[in-house]
Amino acid sequence: MEIAPFVQHYGLWAVGVGTFLEGESVLLAAAAAAAHGLLHLPAVVAVNTELDFKRYLRMDERLYYTSTITDISEEKATGLGVGYFVTQMQTYYSVNEAGGADECVGSMMFRLFKFKPTHAPKPIEEAKGGASAVPKIGRSTPGISPDTQFWWDGVNQGKLMIQRCKSCQTLRHPPGPACPECQSFEWDEVQSKGQGHIYSFVVMHYPEVPPFDHPNPIGLIELDEGTRLVGQLLGLKPNEYQIGQRVQVEFNTFNDGTLTLPQWRVVA
Ligand SMILES: [Zn+2]
Repeated sequence: MEIAPFVQHYGLWAVGVGTFLEGESVLLAAAAAAAHGLLHLPAVVAVNTELDFKRYLRMDERLYYTSTITDISEEKATGLGVGYFVTQMQTYYSVNEAGGADECVGSMMFRLFKFKPTHAPKPIEEAKGGASAVPKIGRSTPGISPDTQFWWDGVNQGKLMIQRCKSCQTLRHPPGPACPECQSFEWDEVQSKGQGHIYSFVVMHYPEVPPFDHPNPIGLIELDEGTRLVGQLLGLKPNEYQIGQRVQVEFNTFNDGTLTLPQWRVVA
């Protein structure tokens, strides 16, 4: 599969705010890339990233970002292959609705390695009769710990559970060993009614990762009980989702019935 070297689409989530910055970068350095021969290098791997948040975001802000290739290294040989380190700087802005200069609210440095692999990928073996031998890719399965076991047990029974501090009654999600309010390790659980609203969302266009359909709408859902969780949105076209829409949980199974996930359907 050919991977376009400079087409990236990122959603940057301002941690602790629950608001997505979303944007789509452009082929700013296509000419530079061609000059370096990067377009002919078939493989790419992410190297490192640095985030800088200037402030919290506010509801209804309109955001965009610019993307600039700030550095392309000399040719380097690594264990993966021979290629170039490419550094990209994305700067996020809030639109000044009053007409003045837009405000920078954060930035992200992103570095990747674009290279020719040392070991050529093996050709895909075709099964007899022409059918593909490539296994069908299922969804990633969750890593379950003693802290999260109850939550997945609930999901498998079609119940959405919320962890509750036994000491101060504060609800919390994702599950963890201690209460962030009072530090108590004592907890039990309550069942959510499975209703809430879209607190924020992002529509994932690229990369097109199997087994998901694309565009892939993903919501940050605020339950009526108050906690928030991330899940796939259902019921509307990708461009029809809006912050504030009411949603209802729906438990769907994947991976030949071995994985159950809560998803969120918009209701009238
Ligand atoms: Zn507590």
